[in-house]
Amino acid sequence: TEEMLRRSEKLSVVGQIAAGVAHEIRNPLTSLKGFTQFLQQGAANKKEYYEIMMAELNRIELIITEMLVLAKPQLVRYQPKSLESIIQSVITLLETQAIMSNIQFDVVMEHQLPLIHCEENQLKQSFINLIKNAMEAMPDGGQIDIHLFLADEKAVRVILKDRGIGITEEVLARLGEPFYTTKEKGTGLGIMTSSKIIEDHHGQFVVKSKVGEGTVVSVTLPIT
Ligand code: ADP
Ligand code: MG
Repeated sequence: TEEMLRRSEKLSVVGQIAAGVAHEIRNPLTSLKGFTQFLQQGAANKKEYYEIMMAELNRIELIITEMLVLAKPQLVRYQPKSLESIIQSVITLLETQAIMSNIQFDVVMEHQLPLIHCEENQLKQSFINLIKNAMEAMPDGGQIDIHLFLADEKAVRVILKDRGIGITEEVLARLGEPFYTTKEKGTGLGIMTSSKIIEDHHGQFVVKSKVGEGTVVSVTLPIT
C-alpha cells in the first residue's frame, strides 16, 4: 500500500537527540581509547589500527557535522534566492558520486520561478541529504528524477523520485526519528535534519513510497 506522511510534527525531541548523540559518539570514542592503548603497548599492526581509528574519527566528524545543521548557527541569513540555482549546485556537488554509482539525474526545472526566502546553505544541506538517500536506495544504479515547478501561486515544489528499494511501512513510521537507520553505515540523521530545515522555512515535506518500486519525496516551499 502507498503511505503518505507529513514529517513536520515529529520534531520536538531535543532530549532524545542529546541522548542519541552521547550514545552514538561514545561507541567510536571507546574504540579509539582501546586502539590508543594498543599503540601505547607497542602493537605490531600499527597501519591497520590507524585505519580503524581514522574511520572512527570520520564517523564522529560526520555525526557532529549533521548535528551542527540542527544547532541554530550564529548567523542565520534568510535571503531571497532562486531554488533552481540551489538545486543546480546540489546536483553539481553530487554528480561525480552519481556517475560512480551508475546513477543518472533526470532534471526538469521551470525557469525564472519566483524566489524563495531561505538560508541557502541549510537548504542545500537538506537537498543533499534527500538526494543521497535516493542514491543509496539504488545500489544497482538507475534514474532519479529531480523536478522543480510552481506548485501554486504561493509556493514552489521539488519532487525527488527514485526507483530504489522503497520504504516499508514500519520504517516509514519511524522516519525522522533521530539515529533511526536501516543502513550499516547510516547515521539516521538525514531525514530529521532535512525536515527540520524545511519546517524552519515554513515548507512541507511529504514522503510516499512503495517497497520494490521506489520513493517520491516532495518538498514545497513558500515563495517570497
Ligand atoms: P541514513 O541515511 O543515515 O540511514 P536518514 O535519516 O537519511 O538516515 O534515513 C533514515 C532511513 O530512512 C534510512 O536508513 C532508510 O531506511 C530510509 N530512507 C530514507 N530515504 C529513503 C529512500 N529514498 N529510499 C529508501 N529508504 C529511504
Ligand atoms: Mg540519509
